[in-house]
Amino acid sequence: MATSWHASPRAEVAPQPTPHEQHARRSAYAHRMSPYLPGSRGTQPCPNCGGAVAQSDRYPSYLCLECEARAVDANGARVAGSNASFGGGFVLHWPDGEHEPLPCISALVWVDGREWDYSEARFGGVLITPARKR
Ligand SMILES: [Zn+2]
Repeated sequence: MATSWHASPRAEVAPQPTPHEQHARRSAYAHRMSPYLPGSRGTQPCPNCGGAVAQSDRYPSYLCLECEARAVDANGARVAGSNASFGGGFVLHWPDGEHEPLPCISALVWVDGREWDYSEARFGGVLITPARKR
């Protein structure tokens, strides 16, 4: 009696999501990754490079992560901001070790030769916004 070892698989292969569905899932994920931007819907341009960032009513102008990663202090040393704790607050760090971490309200930083304010975001996290007139 002949037995076929080449029977059709019983389970159908799950259909692959279309590119549009994949994009929609990534967008939903990106929005969940911006908890400090409630009401985020769509994007707005980074004021420095024009790249897309999550839209925010409270922060209509803030730098994208790539520009934020290029922030330096008045002496050109790399700086990075973080929350002081889960309760908030802002701390400026020097990843290359020029200075001790500095707790502060906000810090004036430079990105691509322009001045910006680095500060705690209203809903947690940190962000860089155009420098206010002082
Ligand atoms: Zn940018």
